Amino acid sequence: MSKLKINFNAGPAALPQEVLEEAAQAVLNYNNTGVSILSMPHRGKDFSAILEESKTLVRALCGVGDEYEVLWLQGGGRLQFAMTPMNFLGADETAGYIDSGSWSSAAIEYANYYGKVKVLTSSKDKNYTELPDWPDNNSQKDLAYIHCTTNNTIYGTQWKDIPASTVPVIADMSSDIFSRKISFTNCAMFYAVAQKNIGPAGATLVVVRKDMLQHIKRAIPSILDYNLYAEKNSVLNTPPVFAIYTSMLVLRWIKERGLDSIEKDNRRKAALLYKEVERNSLFRTEVKEEDRSMMNVCFLPVDELMRKPFIGFCEERNITGIAGHRSVGGFRVSLYNAITIQDVEQLVAVMQEFEQKHSK
Ligand code: PMP
Repeated sequence: MSKLKINFNAGPAALPQEVLEEAAQAVLNYNNTGVSILSMPHRGKDFSAILEESKTLVRALCGVGDEYEVLWLQGGGRLQFAMTPMNFLGADETAGYIDSGSWSSAAIEYANYYGKVKVLTSSKDKNYTELPDWPDNNSQKDLAYIHCTTNNTIYGTQWKDIPASTVPVIADMSSDIFSRKISFTNCAMFYAVAQKNIGPAGATLVVVRKDMLQHIKRAIPSILDYNLYAEKNSVLNTPPVFAIYTSMLVLRWIKERGLDSIEKDNRRKAALLYKEVERNSLFRTEVKEEDRSMMNVCFLPVDELMRKPFIGFCEERNITGIAGHRSVGGFRVSLYNAITIQDVEQLVAVMQEFEQKHSK
């Protein structure tokens, strides 16, 4: 099998080689059942077992028990931006949103369709190069919930943890779930698109405390109602069987390695790369040091004319996916769990080679 490039894309992102191989085998013949995973009935016993195992793995990794429902949905992050207020924000109620980047502001925009929105804190005036303050208890009063984004994929900032709050906290953990230990139980609900740290695009993980489901705020079509997903074990209609199966394989892989060891490696990977960005005369970053993300390292060329050549230089050396988001430019190197320390060392070596070639 030919070797893959080192892939630093922000999502869909690199997946562990072992998972790719097992998923490829399952496409050909799932567990010697004589059926491909792509053709497996979604209400049969094999897929039920996959769902059950995925739920057990998620609970174990998050340290939550049966008081939380583990659901698989479709529609990506954006559907969660809509479903959250649709389910939990009454038309006369107010939800608090923390505005720490483009994905947070998209969530705010969606919530405005369903109720009142109070932006509790924002770092927009700093171009999201740092995190805003976490809202104090006083400003949380009478809110239906608080919504936050734990890792800002486009700007490269990340909360250290989720503080305990007086109202339910709903967290978009799309780009840093399972990258480290975090206080999951301080959240009433958290969700994450699969295509970064969990698996392929097409599935979205939602973990929600059961008591939240007793307070759905309006009549909604079944396909958008969290309660029904819980009742029907995520099989309301035809779910993305392959995406959920592959996500389950990634969850197994994470559990085998252990979150502690994954977090240790993620810290090392990020430290290595930030150190080089700071040292190298051709690169710089504007992201505030204490708020920097371990998952998405965002930086800029000192000379904008060097942006494209560096991307090409990397491509020639089998390194792909380092262009920054189209809205901000520069570079973004995503260091999700499947990226190894050796991958980062190779990138650092290429950055040094590029500097030697171009510094006057
Ligand atoms: N939230 C975060 C933190 C993201 O990074 C993204 C996309 N990369 C989204 C939400 C939106 O996800 P989707 O494209 O699946 O709607």
